[in-house]
Amino acid sequence: MAESSYPMLPVPEAQALVLAQTVTLPPVTVALSAALGYVVAQDIVAQEPLPPFPASVKDGYAVVAADGPGDYRLAGEVTAGRTADFWVQPGTVAYITTGAPLPAGADAVVQVEDTERLPSPDGARVRIHRQVRPGEDIRPVGSDVAAGQVVLQAGERLGAAEIGLLATVGAAQVPVYRRPRVAILSTGDELVEPEVTPGVGQIRDSNRATLAAAVLAAGAEPVDLGIAPDVQGELEARVQRGLAEADILLSTGGVSMGELDLIKPLLEQAGTVHFGRLRMKPGKPCTFATAAVGGQRRLIFGLPGNPVSSLVTFYLLVVPAIRKLAGYADPMLHRVQAHLAQPLALDAYRPEYHRALLRWDSRLNQGRGGYLATSTGRQASSRLLSMRTANALLELPLGEGELAAGSVVSALLIGHG
Ligand code: AMP
Ligand code: MG
Repeated sequence: MAESSYPMLPVPEAQALVLAQTVTLPPVTVALSAALGYVVAQDIVAQEPLPPFPASVKDGYAVVAADGPGDYRLAGEVTAGRTADFWVQPGTVAYITTGAPLPAGADAVVQVEDTERLPSPDGARVRIHRQVRPGEDIRPVGSDVAAGQVVLQAGERLGAAEIGLLATVGAAQVPVYRRPRVAILSTGDELVEPEVTPGVGQIRDSNRATLAAAVLAAGAEPVDLGIAPDVQGELEARVQRGLAEADILLSTGGVSMGELDLIKPLLEQAGTVHFGRLRMKPGKPCTFATAAVGGQRRLIFGLPGNPVSSLVTFYLLVVPAIRKLAGYADPMLHRVQAHLAQPLALDAYRPEYHRALLRWDSRLNQGRGGYLATSTGRQASSRLLSMRTANALLELPLGEGELAAGSVVSALLIGHG
C-alpha cells in the first residue's frame, strides 16, 4: 500500500510549528471610524482624567451636605455642558443635571426624588428630604479613567467598547497592526463556479466561497486566485501570484495521494514544507510550508479538498496564524467544556474534531448549568451540512466504541472570539 512519507503530526505540535513561523505584521495607522476589528499596536494611555471635573451622577440638587434636610433658597441652575457662575453657600442649593459640573461650594447631590419644589411666588425654594454624605452622587475627577491610565493594551482586538475608549481618550488616529491578506486558490479539474450548471463529472467550487467568508470573519482580507485545473504549470503560476500578493496562501485540494495531487511536490519546490500530514479527523493531508518573497516570509497552507476538512483545518491552523499576523496577544481558539447530548462514535487512530452546536443548559452540573453539545449529524468530511450551525469542534479522544451521552469533552469555539 502506498504510504505518504510525511509523519502524522499531532495537531498541537502543528499549531506550535505554525505559530513559530508566523511573524506579526508591521503597524499602520487607521482612522477611528475604520478601526473595528483591528488589533491595537501600542498601549493607549489616557492623557486627561474622566470625568475632567466633579460631575453629578443624578438629576437633583447640589447641596452642602452638612446643611442636612430642610428648606433652602435656590442659588441657581447648572446643566450638563455648562458651568455655574455662582457659589453654593451654606443654606442654599443649586439645581443640577446628570453629567453637569458640581458648582463651587457644594459637596454632594441629592437626587430629585428626595426633594420637593416649594410653591412660592418666585418658585425658588427647595425642600431637601434626605441627609446625604459629602461626595454622595458625585463622580470625582478621574473616577472612570485616571490621567495616565492604560485604557488599551497592545495586542487587544478593537470591538465596540475598545473603539469607545479610543474616542474617550481622543485617539482619532489609531496605531494598529496591518490586516493580513489571505489568497485563496481552489484546485481541481472537476470544479466550476457557483453560477455555472455543472457538466458530467463536475461539481461547484464551494471551498473558495467558504474560505473567503471565513477569512473575512477572522478579520483578514481575502484575495481571490480562482480555480486552477490539476496542471502543474497552472498551479505554479497561481501559487506564485498568491505569494506575491498575500501574507498567507491557502489552496484546497490536490494534497492527498492521488495521481493528480500536485500540491505537495509544488510546495516542496516553492519553499520549505514543515508538515505534510496531521493526526486528526478530518483533515489528515493538511500541508504547511513557508517561502520567502522579497525578504518577507509567506505562510502556505495546502488544505484538503473536502469541504469540511478544509474548513476544520482552517479554524485549527490558519485562524491562529491570521490572529498572530494581525497582532493578537492570544491567537488560539478558546476552549470550553461541554456535555454530550447524544453518544458519539470514537476513532481508534486519529482524534476527531466533531462538529457541534453548543448551547447553555441550566439543568447540567446539578443545576449549576453548562454547555450542552448537540452533534450536527453524520460527520463525513465531504458533508458541509455537518458544519452548518456548528459553533464548536468537540475534541474527541482516541478510543474504541462510543462516548456515552452526558460525557464531558473539551470543545474549541469557532467562528468568533
Ligand atoms: P482532492 O483533495 O483534490 O482529492 O479533493 C478531495 C475531494 O474534495 C474531492 O471529492 C473533490 O471533488 C472535493 N473538492 C476539492 N476541491 C473542492 C472545492 N473547491 N469545492 C468543493 N469540493 C471540492
Ligand atoms: Mg483534486
